[in-house]
Amino acid sequence: MFINGEWVGARSGATFEVTNPATGEVIGTVADGGAEDAGAAIAAADAAQSAWGATTAHERADLLMEEWRIMTERSAVLASLMTKEQGKPLKASTAEVAYAADFLRWFAEEARRITGAWLPSARKDQRFLSVKTPVGVVAAVTPWNYPISMLTRKMGPALAAGCTIVLKPAEATPLCAQAVYECLIDAGMPAGVINLVTALDPKPIGDVFTSDPRVKKLTFTGSTAVGRILASKAGHSLQRVSVELGGHAPFIVYPDADPVHAAKGAAALKFLNSGQACISPNRIFVHADHAEAFIDTIVPRVAKVKVGEGTLEGVGVGPLVNEAAVAKVANQVDDARAKGAEVPVGGKRLLEAGLDRGHFYAPTVVTGVTEDMLIYREETFGPVAPIITYDDVDQVIAMANNTNYGLAAYVYTRDLSTAIRAMEGLRFGIIGINDVNPTSAGAPFGGMGDSGLGREGGHEGIGEYQETKLAGIAL
Ligand code: ADP
Repeated sequence: MFINGEWVGARSGATFEVTNPATGEVIGTVADGGAEDAGAAIAAADAAQSAWGATTAHERADLLMEEWRIMTERSAVLASLMTKEQGKPLKASTAEVAYAADFLRWFAEEARRITGAWLPSARKDQRFLSVKTPVGVVAAVTPWNYPISMLTRKMGPALAAGCTIVLKPAEATPLCAQAVYECLIDAGMPAGVINLVTALDPKPIGDVFTSDPRVKKLTFTGSTAVGRILASKAGHSLQRVSVELGGHAPFIVYPDADPVHAAKGAAALKFLNSGQACISPNRIFVHADHAEAFIDTIVPRVAKVKVGEGTLEGVGVGPLVNEAAVAKVANQVDDARAKGAEVPVGGKRLLEAGLDRGHFYAPTVVTGVTEDMLIYREETFGPVAPIITYDDVDQVIAMANNTNYGLAAYVYTRDLSTAIRAMEGLRFGIIGINDVNPTSAGAPFGGMGDSGLGREGGHEGIGEYQETKLAGIAL
């Protein structure tokens, strides 16, 4: 763990092992921190807050830019570690490191643009000055599916705003978190500004984060169930809260779309990170006119995907994170099958050629999905593309909106009016229009409803870590 400028073990001396999800091999051992360690990390962040908050935006921007440079320089090492620890193919890990580093650069630039306002008053002898200040100590909890970019997406804006940080990464990916910290430390971060607590059992750490009065803001990315618990506790403590949670993204293919282009897009998007992404399409609505062309395009593409260890050449889909994830995916597919769906490709756990050492599920297409199936309602977080054939164009937006989640949605159409109407009608925070990657460090990312509160990235991102302070000045 990294507390007050030093790498330290847990006070209890406990450790836990980190394994490769593709092989089951132990790849590292890290400190198993507890409530006391979390308290020490918060104390360090609190002690460093006033000096860090008093640095100039230019100083913070220069440090963040140096962190971006170091992370970019170490891209190959970081990507290879990510593939070992998290499982995604090396190409995807490399892309994630670039995306992660970009948050450091974007927020280095944003730091210099923190401004205030000179506001008019109704009184002739009064002026108003409004300024932005850092919220203070930030507690961050991050997930395993994007184990580097989800850290910088929080740390970049928090540091740019002038906040100190205590971060707890997912228990499956603490090594990536340590590697991110190494980049930031080597750039010259002052002691206490960034602190890292690793733990096998996240609950005691979460309890400290959400109840310690020195913590002013909680930022979380993970499941809706855990986000709801942490946000409620943080709310009780009147901490500021942003939570980026689950999704159940619709992917709508309109009658005026090119079904082959749409199917290629769906195939590229759905199997990224083995489907373990909150913006992964989970309900693919294909108009009846296009069902045949769409299925005939996606099925052979999915059949061709090579599954295996992400370090191997040509592998497109890696393992799932653990056994529970495989069981959840298998349960959804078996349920759909039992209720009448067809599974033209995949639909089983992969055990041959050494894959039994890891958590592999075959890239799968399910057709004839209907409302009574689990997969229609629940986030899958696995490599399964569920296809729903629809007839009535006027109903499809309502079908897509019929979920409490509201993160990403995708629309395929060649008609500008259809695209704009869909964008306006969909109750989701991120909408891809003929586009499978509607994300960037410079664009706001976040959801509505059960998908969370707040936005990360973009101009909005830094605002989550700032207070507004007003001075009324009598002349
Ligand atoms: P997933 O189901 O995708 O693994 P989780 O929401 O369980 O997602 O995990 C996301 C992050 O939340 C991880 O860092 C995990 O350790 C943490 N976490 C899980 N449960 C709790 C909890 N009760 N308190 C604090 N953090 C938690």
